[in-house]
Amino acid sequence: MFKIKLKELINDIHKKHILGRTIAEIYIIEFQKCGLSHAHILIFFPKNCKPRMVEDVDHMINAELPNPKTNRLAHKTVTRCMMHGLCGVAFPNAPCMEEGKCKKTYPHKFQSETVTDVNGYPIYRHRDTGRTLLVHGVELDNHWVVLHNVYLLTKYDAHINIEVCNNIRVVKYLFKYVYKGHDRVTVEISRQSNNATEGNVVEVDEIKKYLDCCYVSTLEVVWRIFKFDMHERFPAVERL
Ligand SMILES: [Zn+2]
Repeated sequence: MFKIKLKELINDIHKKHILGRTIAEIYIIEFQKCGLSHAHILIFFPKNCKPRMVEDVDHMINAELPNPKTNRLAHKTVTRCMMHGLCGVAFPNAPCMEEGKCKKTYPHKFQSETVTDVNGYPIYRHRDTGRTLLVHGVELDNHWVVLHNVYLLTKYDAHINIEVCNNIRVVKYLFKYVYKGHDRVTVEISRQSNNATEGNVVEVDEIKKYLDCCYVSTLEVVWRIFKFDMHERFPAVERL
């Protein structure tokens, strides 16, 4: 299902230009530690089609709960997939919390209009529309909505985060994913010797401890059996 959706999504972006005319794309497939597949996609627009104006950004990217009456499908998907997990002072053990703060900067501040910050990054429009959701007994509003495109969300009914990047560093970020290789882990299961407590020396074989292993989740196994691409780019560029 992920492969079918990804193919269609790339087709939407590359051939149907639903985000505007594009000149290049690169994507990388990654499997999270729990095994879930996701794609990091970077799209390049031609110079005269880059989303520079506030209106262009607002047209492409939404950071508010859609109206459940006029946009039922998008609202349903945002509710299910696009609300940042519960974090902050009340949830200090959330995976995104670091030194008492959410490293993804949630909850976002209310913002009446999209503006550009000093580094050139857009600060997206998060208006106080009064719409709220109850998630695990906690009332969430636009502070917690992950950036998305309403059309893509309605069509794919999946988590699709979309942001404008105007920094060369994003290229480095994506290529890091291409070349970093597998997550690796060393695990040893051993039976503890009963003699260890009686003053005997426990033998540690250091060479045995340096195993070079990788672990592969079931979804990734299937992906690789079918020989699906782990990354793809258009146009193909070869450095001479
Ligand atoms: Zn967080």
